[in-house]
Amino acid sequence: MIASRRMVLAALAAGALAGCDRLGSPGSPASGGRIASAVPAGSHAPGTAPTAAPTAAPPSGSRVTGPATSATPVLTRAQVVVRYGHLRPHTWGFGGPGVVRDLPTARRVIALTFDACGGRGGSGYDSALIGFLRRRQVPATLFLNSRWIDANPAAFAQLAAEPLFEIANHGTRHLPLSVTGRSAYGIPGTRNAGEVYDEVATNQAKLGRLLGVPPLFFRAGTAYCDDVAARIVTDMGDRLVSFSVNGDGGATFTPGQVRSTVTAAPGGSIVLCHMNHPESGTAQGIAAAVPYLLASGYRFVRLCDELRVD
Ligand SMILES: [Zn+2]
Repeated sequence: MIASRRMVLAALAAGALAGCDRLGSPGSPASGGRIASAVPAGSHAPGTAPTAAPTAAPPSGSRVTGPATSATPVLTRAQVVVRYGHLRPHTWGFGGPGVVRDLPTARRVIALTFDACGGRGGSGYDSALIGFLRRRQVPATLFLNSRWIDANPAAFAQLAAEPLFEIANHGTRHLPLSVTGRSAYGIPGTRNAGEVYDEVATNQAKLGRLLGVPPLFFRAGTAYCDDVAARIVTDMGDRLVSFSVNGDGGATFTPGQVRSTVTAAPGGSIVLCHMNHPESGTAQGIAAAVPYLLASGYRFVRLCDELRVD
């Protein structure tokens, strides 16, 4: 752990993570392109589509243009409970107020995002995938769960030291973000506003300690949230990120399915895949999709390169 920390601090000293704390210039390499359609559903299981919003709710998220956040929790747990503890949710799914689902651009730009969910069966490390991204200098945003970091301290330290990768928050216990305990893929969600705070803030603080600066973006376990939970995350100063293309079907797709899904991603897509299942088809599929997209004029970015953060 001490070694990990030292590496991270060294990276910070070298300015390795610069550009991730405000709207960055596209400082990353790669380009390529072809257009196609987005894909539905899930994460962590052959998913079904999210349920729709039953009643009216605040602007439900998709394209984001407004300013974002500084990612430092500005509320205490007690304040969150007072402010949101009495509210009932109206939506459940991959969207919601303030939720980022794609990049605010129509250019041939794609954000590849890889979740590391942690826990039993979810703490693997797909070194072939990461090795490919390194070799081809393909930038990506890595959403790391607290438990995955604990299980992979050396890999974490290495990834955190590389400007090619942006580190983001994938929760503490990897729970769907609910104020009523609602489940997704059989995983019971957080049960109230206080637990939403815990799920976000605990790993946020851990990453802040390890990286020297807190991450800018949060994605819930399974990517599901309700509208009250989404508002809590925003109020805490984080930016809640979902996805527009389910690139590996919760790490269940074959390489061919990953390739065809990812090559079909239109400009502005946020592609969700996984980096914690080396046995899956993700690495091979990504390795096949990326050269095709580059040759077609697409460019790959980290979220912080395209999403405005004040
Ligand atoms: Zn996950």
